[in-house]
Amino acid sequence: MAMRMGTCRFCGQTAMVDVKEDQELSQDQLDVLVSEQCRCDGSARMKEKKRILEATEWEIGTMLGEEYAEVAQLLIEALDLVYEEKIKKLTVTLPGHTKVNLYKSGPGIKLESQKTQKLESLTC
Ligand SMILES: [Zn+2]
Repeated sequence: MAMRMGTCRFCGQTAMVDVKEDQELSQDQLDVLVSEQCRCDGSARMKEKKRILEATEWEIGTMLGEEYAEVAQLLIEALDLVYEEKIKKLTVTLPGHTKVNLYKSGPGIKLESQKTQKLESLTC
């Protein structure tokens, strides 16, 4: 093992990380490693975000499945924007009047689907 120096991207603290002797890492990669191991708030937030995005990604995949794989991909791509609240709420209406909502809720992201009833006019 060799010790290499990296800088946390969030707090700027430098720290040593263990890397394999023959492993060629760029300074960028070393910084990522240090950022992940750092105990600062920024690092904790990044890990929390990663956890939430992965969990939501899994939920989307489970909810939409193979049938709507392309729609799932679209929602997954927007996850970061929803998490950062650059999108307040994302609603997708699938064929068959199923609506999928994606929005930030507390520290996490809420995913819900609802069947919308198309009301038939009685007087036609
Ligand atoms: Zn840090």
